[in-house]
Amino acid sequence: MTQKEQQYIALYRRWRPQTFGEVVGQEHVTRTLQNALRMGRVAHAYLFCGLRGTGKTTMAKLLAKSINCLEPAPEGYAFPVEPCNKCLSCQDINRGRSMDVLEIDAASNRGIDEIRDLREKVRFAPAQSRYKVYIIDEVHMLTNEAFNALLKTLEEPPGKVIFILATTEASRLPATVISRCQRFDFHLLEAKEISDRLQEVAGRMGFSIDKDGLSLLANMAEGSLRDALGLLEQCASYADGAIGAEQIQSIFGIAAPVNLYQLMEAVHKEDLAQGFTIIKDIVYSGKEPGQFLKDLSSYVRLLLLQEGGGAQELIEQEAPFLASFIRKHKGVFLKESLLEMLEITSDVDRQLRSVTRPQFLLELCFLRLVRAHRFGPYLASGELFKKLEELEAKGFIKGEHTKGEHNKGGNTAATPPALPASASSDLTSALQWEVEKKAAPAGPNLTGERLKDTWEEKILPDLKRKHITV
Ligand SMILES: [Zn+2]
Repeated sequence: MTQKEQQYIALYRRWRPQTFGEVVGQEHVTRTLQNALRMGRVAHAYLFCGLRGTGKTTMAKLLAKSINCLEPAPEGYAFPVEPCNKCLSCQDINRGRSMDVLEIDAASNRGIDEIRDLREKVRFAPAQSRYKVYIIDEVHMLTNEAFNALLKTLEEPPGKVIFILATTEASRLPATVISRCQRFDFHLLEAKEISDRLQEVAGRMGFSIDKDGLSLLANMAEGSLRDALGLLEQCASYADGAIGAEQIQSIFGIAAPVNLYQLMEAVHKEDLAQGFTIIKDIVYSGKEPGQFLKDLSSYVRLLLLQEGGGAQELIEQEAPFLASFIRKHKGVFLKESLLEMLEITSDVDRQLRSVTRPQFLLELCFLRLVRAHRFGPYLASGELFKKLEELEAKGFIKGEHTKGEHNKGGNTAATPPALPASASSDLTSALQWEVEKKAAPAGPNLTGERLKDTWEEKILPDLKRKHITV
């Protein structure tokens, strides 16, 4: 764990909700647990599933505190439905020094020693509290041996013991363990839930963030409150009373919305000079290319949402800082092209990890976006493939599914077809001619796979030279 991550965790713990009422989101869990506390129907074993930073450990501690709280429960309640956080038990648990609430991190050494220890001590009555509570984090990391030991305990749970198993990967748990637990799924937090909490915490830390800044951070956190608080911590050292979206963008090297807008404008206008200039500026300003690609795909995703219709409110909610730019691009790009563009950005993102010159790759990405914008409808409608099939039928090219005589030699190249008489400025004809011209020399050996390569390597760049004015 890096120092930075430790800092994040420190902040996360500092602002960890101390009552069920303070928990952000996960109402389905708090409601059920509080009902169980009220009615005295607390289970022997719980399984908390969900991605990191969604509040599983927080919830486990709240349950442990409530059930052991020394404050008397309200009339008619079996246990207090909120911990008092003042009594000795609550304070010990908050400081992590309770003898009866034990946290085991299965990820650290796969839990071998702890589970052995657990087996020996689980039968003893709690030292000071009503219940012993074992919180086993990342429980899917336990060894088989440890799982078996745990299972035996779950099968015959001793009276005053509660197990709370937390995991990010429930699918890796044995069914025998899952079936013995009451399961809760923690969902990712909505951007709005995160930004509300951030605003509150920032206020308590003594600075304010504007609305765009909050939603920017909330989006970066991708549903994890822990990550969001970590980002907030980083901002805090730059904040002088107040911090805005622009500062946040520069702190994290996020592409300014206007850059994304301009790049997509360049795609639309097929303006290579503008596109390349923007990319150069981004690379030379020291912004991380991976982050830029991520921002770009978010932008394209929102454009796609917009063309899907009726998503304006969602866009406003998710990314208010982009909304005005997205609106300006309404109706500019076709859905088919946008879908293709999304695939391109994720493809390039994968390639980025292994290149030393990201600028070149980003430029290539830009060119591919231009191509997707221009040819999206053709690619999607299958028109192009129909054309290829026609060519195949004429014997100019050989597809994988083509029946008939197999030509082993390969020196019987087909005659390149002449430019069709109907060729005009019409794109479809141009496309057809290009495909015929390029595909033909490869003759009968051109398989489906190679056809795709030819399309990528030869035909499209050629087309670009012909039809895109720089
Ligand atoms: Zn208490």
